Amino acid sequence: MRPELANREPTTSREERLSIPTFYQTLLKHRLKLVKDAVSTLQINVGLLCNQSCRHCHLEAGAGRSEIMSARTMDQVFALARTGDFKTIDITGGAPEMHPQIDDFNERLTPHAPRMILRSNLTALARKGPSLMTLLKDNAVIITASLPSLNEVQSETVRGGGTFLSGIATLKKLNRLGYGQPESGLELNLVSNPAGAFLPPPQAGLEKRFHTVLAQKYGIAFNNLFSFANVPLGRYRRWLIQSNNFDAYINKLAAAFNPCTVPGLMCRTMLSVSWDGYLYDCDFNQAAGLPLENHPSHISAMTPPIPAGRSIAAGYHCYTCTAGSGFT
Ligand code: SF4
Repeated sequence: MRPELANREPTTSREERLSIPTFYQTLLKHRLKLVKDAVSTLQINVGLLCNQSCRHCHLEAGAGRSEIMSARTMDQVFALARTGDFKTIDITGGAPEMHPQIDDFNERLTPHAPRMILRSNLTALARKGPSLMTLLKDNAVIITASLPSLNEVQSETVRGGGTFLSGIATLKKLNRLGYGQPESGLELNLVSNPAGAFLPPPQAGLEKRFHTVLAQKYGIAFNNLFSFANVPLGRYRRWLIQSNNFDAYINKLAAAFNPCTVPGLMCRTMLSVSWDGYLYDCDFNQAAGLPLENHPSHISAMTPPIPAGRSIAAGYHCYTCTAGSGFT
């Protein structure tokens, strides 16, 4: 087993103490199974290095993290992407823009999936300068950017001082390149997370509000807003515990379980690769130390296709994806 998995503190003891049913028990109660369909998305975490240290980061990324994907692992990812027939390749981090080889990696991967997504915190993209933005535009890479709140103070409580206006300036630059503009084919999506220990409001209403406020106040256009609950892992879990919000939050998530979300869970169609090449069902499972099929396996040993019907490793954190309208 990977040393850091062996040494990781179990993240379940608090939930057990609260007598919350395990996620599998809840699935069973609703006669549901969580198994893989055909895998169509390859998600790649290129490292935990980030220029921000957001309070809700389940991977505890930050400037003090030195873990980034090696050239060798990037080659192994590339080999898998070439043969895997993926519909979507989703590059994440940390701040993926901070990986020194991100430009080249993007260029190499682009021909191997119809949809390429880069997750951005916007401030790292701004730091990288115009060359990466132009490259993303030229390859029609979808940018999915985090903007937790429309309120500067609230947003910076989560992400740190100076991040809100820097993010707004980057969104304006992306708009000028054509991102988020009708008919440009350049998709710009935003992700909003609650700033405290509560669940997000319904996505449709929030999206409408983001469109209106960003257009009126800053002249910014975007395509879609995804509103996600924060996952009680990593830095967010620690904050919940320190602020005495953990018990109420996890109870709220479990009580909001919605069986209708299970067929659409992203883990059913996703293979997630960590910065060091290990395989997971999603990056929340990376943070929880739950490897694919509960058994550490490395990308160097993976040959596609990944058969449908394989079990998915799940934990209490899965209640985040199934609360309310879930991760959409
Ligand atoms: S956290 Fe659980 S439910 Fe959510 S995507 Fe990962 S495995 Fe699936």
